[in-house]
Amino acid sequence: MELLLEESNRRLTELSNKDSLTGIANRRCFDATLEHEYFRLRRSNSKLSIILLDIDHFKEYNDCCGHVMGDDCLRQIGRVLAGSVNRSVDLAARYGGEEFACILPDTSIDGAVKIAEKIQQRIQDLKIEHKKSPVSEFVTASFGVTTVQYSSEISPSEVIAMADKLLYKAKVSGRNMIEFAESKGPELARR
Ligand code: GH3
Ligand code: MG
Ligand code: MG
Repeated sequence: MELLLEESNRRLTELSNKDSLTGIANRRCFDATLEHEYFRLRRSNSKLSIILLDIDHFKEYNDCCGHVMGDDCLRQIGRVLAGSVNRSVDLAARYGGEEFACILPDTSIDGAVKIAEKIQQRIQDLKIEHKKSPVSEFVTASFGVTTVQYSSEISPSEVIAMADKLLYKAKVSGRNMIEFAESKGPELARR
């Protein structure tokens, strides 16, 4: 009985942390992991990097190809993310809709940009035809990458806001791009 209960608890925890469409971590798991990793930084001199990515012109993809293919595209991109982060402490998650995110503990900005480039290349290699995209004949994504050290003046949600600003910059600069910046203090978060 005890073993059964343990197993069903383990299954429940797993389900509540997983995105049902892609099978990778969900937003709930992402938020909890970011909180945990950010506050773990307090006791070290280490750096934490975040990659936020958003599929380009995905509304048009759905309008053109239908939601079934849209869902399949999200699954393929979820697999790319999961296969692109290697260390056990790294997390690849579906942040929401057509947005994905990675948490990379103990990773410098250079290391995080390399991973973002690998994801970008692998998305390109999927060759998912996107007839309505003005950016490419295939599905692409835009990226915001940021690296932080712990500061009592920056909250985990402000770390995400920084990555989101960079992602927005990648969108307005033409999409299918990676924008990155390392935070040296709270200034970047507030700008
Ligand atoms: P941008 O390049 O600026 O990011 O444009 P976009 O069209 O990707 O962005 P927008 O926010 O206008 O549209 C996002 C679309 O993502 C809307 C919706 O059709 C699609 N989407 C969000 N979640 C899902 C999902 O679970 N399945 C499918 N098939 N589509 C989804
Ligand atoms: Mg979006
Ligand atoms: Mg989009």
